[in-house]
Amino acid sequence: MIAYLERFIHENDTESRQDDDLPNICKSLDLQVQGSIDCVATGLAGKDFGGLYSFKPLAIIRPAGADDIAVAVKAAYRSPSLTVAARGNGHSINGQAMADGGLVIDMRSTEENHFKIVKMNGEIFVDVSGGALWEDVLKRCVSGFNLAPRSWTDYLGLTVGGTLSNAGVSGQAFRYGPQSSNVSELDVVTGKGDILTCSETKNSELFFGALGGLGQFGIITRARVKLQSAPDMMRWIRVVYSEFEDFTRDAEWLVTLPEGVSFDYVEGFAFVNSNDPVNGWPSVPLDPGRGFDQNAIPLTAGCVLYCLELARHYQNSDHPSAVDRVVNSLLGRLRFVEDLKFQVDVTYVEFLLRVKPVEERARANGIWDSPHPWLNMFVSKRDIADFDRIVFKKILKEGVGGPMLVYPLLRSKWDNRTSVMIPADGEIFYIVALLRFTPPYSKGPCVEKLVAQNQEIAHLCLKKGFDFKLYLPHYQSQEDWKRHFGNQWSRFVENKANFDPMAILAPGQKIFKRII
Ligand code: FAD
Repeated sequence: MIAYLERFIHENDTESRQDDDLPNICKSLDLQVQGSIDCVATGLAGKDFGGLYSFKPLAIIRPAGADDIAVAVKAAYRSPSLTVAARGNGHSINGQAMADGGLVIDMRSTEENHFKIVKMNGEIFVDVSGGALWEDVLKRCVSGFNLAPRSWTDYLGLTVGGTLSNAGVSGQAFRYGPQSSNVSELDVVTGKGDILTCSETKNSELFFGALGGLGQFGIITRARVKLQSAPDMMRWIRVVYSEFEDFTRDAEWLVTLPEGVSFDYVEGFAFVNSNDPVNGWPSVPLDPGRGFDQNAIPLTAGCVLYCLELARHYQNSDHPSAVDRVVNSLLGRLRFVEDLKFQVDVTYVEFLLRVKPVEERARANGIWDSPHPWLNMFVSKRDIADFDRIVFKKILKEGVGGPMLVYPLLRSKWDNRTSVMIPADGEIFYIVALLRFTPPYSKGPCVEKLVAQNQEIAHLCLKKGFDFKLYLPHYQSQEDWKRHFGNQWSRFVENKANFDPMAILAPGQKIFKRII
């Protein structure tokens, strides 16, 4: 069987392979044994949200569960050179979920598995599949149990395994940490094809390694996610600042207030001081009926303005005046520009699904499917004012064709035993997300220029000695990866040797080369 496979792979490069060959591939890999593996050809696995890279896999596999995934990984392990990439929802930017000539495991085929509420030591969790979309986890938890995970991403069309392999950050992370700090147990298929349950106390190296581990140590097939009771409603607010210093002081004050007396969600973004429909004033109001009064902008304002985005939970049974009282007392202590305050009341589920209508509009006008050269980073509080001065106010003063998020996070909420890398010093650091959207036609700057601008920003941060880390990192050389992981590199390499010794998994991250 292996001999056949070797011949098959060497004699059939993936470009010239016909999809008619797929039954033979599956047979040669022994993948039919379970009967439940659907071995199909599809172009999907060669695409991602970034649209910058495309690698054709040998085959995409639709497993029914962990056993099938283990069969595929073991087949790759026995083969001379095959790699395996778990594909969540393919929302990576730089081909991280692809496997050039390898096997792509479509985790979405397992999305229904495991769903179960678990009560343990006075806490409530939900077991979900690594291939479940967060939006489905939300809907099932709220509608069935009036419960919800505590920590989110802004957009929920992402898989549990995909975000846990990175971190998973949104406006709740200042309080609860990233999603990777909100799980208590995982089932993981390692690079040897072993199926292991892991937690803080059981196979803990694998547990902490896999969280933020960029898919390098195993494929997450089940996660036990911490829950809280779901509020009915959200008061959703945006306030505008002309000075970065006022914006950061207020944002930092809010994220360091004790739970209960602050907002439940704190984010922020920079935007252009112009009437540009995507990058400027019109991107701020929450209620389409209420416009942005440009006359309220102070004359001292520069080319970039800042918006703090806040939300507070409440129940239908709460008296409206009680919600107003808490919100107004907090807002009363902030120094935003008077008259540039926007607020709406939405259901909790509507709030968490707020990017969905944006997606629908972007799909309709073609910009969802065009390339997205995004750049995400964590920048320490020490350097964020310089970053603003050099990057937002100069390099990006005309915007990026989409949101430029910037908001503070707290180190103490990030479990430093996971593989996620954050800046070296200080309690407060900022996430900066340049969420570029490009038109589907050749208007505007070409994608290569935008990628080059991202590189310019990253190089500049290095040159200036900023304390920063790329989030959702992408590097071309192992030297860069070593620098990224710094003193954690040896632990990362050790985990790789223990859990994926042939370097089969997540080849699209380009950290390790498959051992041949
Ligand atoms: P994929 O892109 O499919 O996979 C990502 C990596 O994880 C790959 O290396 C893959 O091999 C590996 N992987 C996938 N599934 C598993 C698994 N089960 N086990 C082990 N490894 C696995 N991130 C945030 O933190 N906050 C946000 O608010 C946010 N918003 C976003 C909005 C949009 C529109 C997009 C496109 C992305 C956003 N992201 C955000 C980034 C997102 O977290 C990453 O793209 C992440 O990779 C999740 O996407 P995915 O499930 O599609 O995973």
